[in-house]
Amino acid sequence: MKVAVFGTKPYDRQFFESRGTGRHEKTYLEPRLTPDTVSLAEGHEAVCVFVHDNLNAEVIDNLKQSGVRYVVIRAAGFNNVDLGAAARHGIRVARVPAYAPDGVAEFTVGLILSLNRGIHRAYSRIRNSNFSLDGLMGFNMRGKTVGVIGTGKIGQSVCQILLGFGCRVLAFDVHKQESLLQAGVEYRELEDILPAADILTLHVPLLPATRRMINEETLRKMKSGAMLINTSRGELIDTGAVIEALKSGRLSSLGIDVYEEEEGVFFEDLSNAIVDDDQLMRLTTFPNVILSSHQAFFTREAMENIARVTLENLDAFAETGASPNEVHAQE
Ligand code: NAD
Repeated sequence: MKVAVFGTKPYDRQFFESRGTGRHEKTYLEPRLTPDTVSLAEGHEAVCVFVHDNLNAEVIDNLKQSGVRYVVIRAAGFNNVDLGAAARHGIRVARVPAYAPDGVAEFTVGLILSLNRGIHRAYSRIRNSNFSLDGLMGFNMRGKTVGVIGTGKIGQSVCQILLGFGCRVLAFDVHKQESLLQAGVEYRELEDILPAADILTLHVPLLPATRRMINEETLRKMKSGAMLINTSRGELIDTGAVIEALKSGRLSSLGIDVYEEEEGVFFEDLSNAIVDDDQLMRLTTFPNVILSSHQAFFTREAMENIARVTLENLDAFAETGASPNEVHAQE
């Protein structure tokens, strides 16, 4: 099958090529898939995309006209694909459902520990020969209450690590995990977790019901001085409201691996450019904010799994016209 691989970085190509040339003819393209670049898909039966490719109804319509029948996503999340439009055009969409949930969970806990103990600040201070401890005092994790919002694959792994630290873990999800209940996790309503949690970490997908779930109102209900972590999707939080909460001290710290307007910025080297996003630039000025560029997934194991499952999805589409990892509009 001829596959147009959009948004290719050298590491994507490396992990695909390390699995051999295989039966699919890949065209590696650096641009992201957008209405402006969709013509590059012409002559391909499939497109391979990542989280910043924009497969809205217009793009899907153009893909159909270009002869594309399959979309394979190199990620678990699929909020960037208009699945209704794909279904209407008979375009089948498959993803990589769980490529490294533990890696994302470990990065999440890394953000918590670094913000708590000021490890990011110590690193840069000591490079300036500043060996003082002023402003670096943290707290013991044991006995602290952590709210885990979403206990799917990543949230479960986060809960397990935090239980190991001796934290009290309060969780919110539309489905309760029996194994977590048995391990000591307490399920509560979001309203009850907000005022109780010393640390709140988000692991729900981006859906209409979860969009901007952290906003002015929910921030007001949070425990004063809480830490907020988001390694899921940027649009789960209202960035403007979070900046105000940091300025007032209502939030003691913020760790985000994702950002509402990250498309076109994250994954790019813009060190010679002027970044035209005042909220993003404001976030980089806070000593108590760690911002990373959507890297929580980025482990060797994840890249190997993404390449393997993406190629399996293409094999399945080529052989049977269907894949076990398809996503549909109603999900
Ligand atoms: P998952 O599908 O296993 O779990 C999501 C959980 O959210 C499920 O348990 C589901 O019941 C729950 N949920 C859905 N809607 C809800 C709602 N309205 N209220 C409460 N709970 C709700 O997903 P996962 O593998 O754990 O991944 C979670 C998210 O992490 C993904 O959707 C993706 O956006 C993000 N992610 C980020 C990175 C990164 O590199 N930063 C990597 C992978 C995934």
